[in-house]
Amino acid sequence: MCGIFAISDNKDASRLAYVGLFTLQHRGQESAGIVTDDNGLLRHSLGMGLVSEIFTKDALETLKGRSAIGHVRYSTTGSSHIKNAQPLVLDSYLGQVAVAHNGNLTNSDGLKEQLQKGGAIFQSTSDTEVILHLMAKHRGSSLSDTLAKNLPKLEGSYAFAFLAPGKLIGARDPHGFRPLVLGKLGKSFMLASETCAIEVAGGKVVREIAPGEMVTIEGGKASFRRFAPAKDFTRCIFEQVYFARPDSVVAGRTVQTSRYEIGALLAREMQGVKADIVSGVPDSGTVYALGFSDESGLPFQTVFMRNHYTGRSFIQPDQRLREFTAHLKLAPIRDVIQGKTIILIDDSLVRGTTSRKIVKSLKKAGARKIIMAIASPAIISPCFYGIDTPSKKELIACNLTVEKIRRFIGADELHYLSLESLVSACGDKKDRNFCVSCFTGKYNTRVDAVAKAYGLPAKAGL
Ligand code: AMP
Repeated sequence: MCGIFAISDNKDASRLAYVGLFTLQHRGQESAGIVTDDNGLLRHSLGMGLVSEIFTKDALETLKGRSAIGHVRYSTTGSSHIKNAQPLVLDSYLGQVAVAHNGNLTNSDGLKEQLQKGGAIFQSTSDTEVILHLMAKHRGSSLSDTLAKNLPKLEGSYAFAFLAPGKLIGARDPHGFRPLVLGKLGKSFMLASETCAIEVAGGKVVREIAPGEMVTIEGGKASFRRFAPAKDFTRCIFEQVYFARPDSVVAGRTVQTSRYEIGALLAREMQGVKADIVSGVPDSGTVYALGFSDESGLPFQTVFMRNHYTGRSFIQPDQRLREFTAHLKLAPIRDVIQGKTIILIDDSLVRGTTSRKIVKSLKKAGARKIIMAIASPAIISPCFYGIDTPSKKELIACNLTVEKIRRFIGADELHYLSLESLVSACGDKKDRNFCVSCFTGKYNTRVDAVAKAYGLPAKAGL
């Protein structure tokens, strides 16, 4: 997962890019970057860490120019290193081109090998660089033609923002796995991973970029073209489950609304389960718990104080860091907990480490029973499209039964939401086209080469 933001034709381009990225910070905290188009010269500033740490006032002042693209990164393919920070900038026969990518290319290794045999020298280990080398090799008459020629060679998930002198281009993969939204602010166009970034930066949301669609913003105008026929529209349902900010609109619904309804559906599925209070693992679990409470009549309580200054625990790419920050993040509120049977809702269970720690800490604080309720089904298969659930070995639901997971996390009961309920809460009837491969093991693209690397049967992706 990552976040992208772009703005055209605006005297405050870099500052607005900063605001956009700051609003998308929840999508990646590892590195961030902004590239501006300063009258034909691309200027860039990249760094490791948070947007507010990297872009000081001085750094922003050097980012002159009226158009900008920006990126916050959360590594999936490629290691956590400054050389993989984005946007990437490359000098090519077309001049300078910068790219910001959200997603994961499932055929990047094969393409990279072919390109290297042809003499391409890669600067990073991220999959994104492949598109820039493809563009340098297979040229069209303009940047958008070059892209239209090369994007169909990519498999997997991508939302891209490209910046070249005088041009800003956005493109979304033919399945629409990853989100990309178009906005307007006066005469400026904006592109963003989530609607919240457009709104916080003062713009208005126009519409989503369609799967297989490309928008070119040039000379103050936007033109749209399809570079590939749309395949089955399968947007990632994990946006609603975990990733997107509650104030963003995804699949025609505010994420908050979807999560509230998921909570209510979970309450219906768990009818008859007895408890004193219902609570959520902050922050994402809270809305689910509110929906649950309203549907069941069970009082909602806050059982954890969350320290907001630690960042998202899972998002740190290294297991040791993840464990350390999880301790800092959530402190139990004893009085509310002591002697209580608590239904505790979290959005998902991946490795099981968060739930295990949380249950332990609540029991230590005096809870009588912990009934763990997960607002999504069991994750039984890795994601190849950009969510960090990489190997079957690490996915607890791949290896253990529900009863064994319950024992591992130390809860008295463990309930998962059904896939049917999740899908019904995440979009209006006409808009229920989701990628749910992490819950089913059925993939929408060929992932055989990748699947092999992850220890899945060779046919898994077909
Ligand atoms: P785990 O501790 O491995 O079971 O991870 C589950 C916790 O991480 C939940 O509390 C989620 O809020 C969060 N989470 C789930 N999926 C992801 C993801 N792909 N990236 C970051 N955080 C996640």
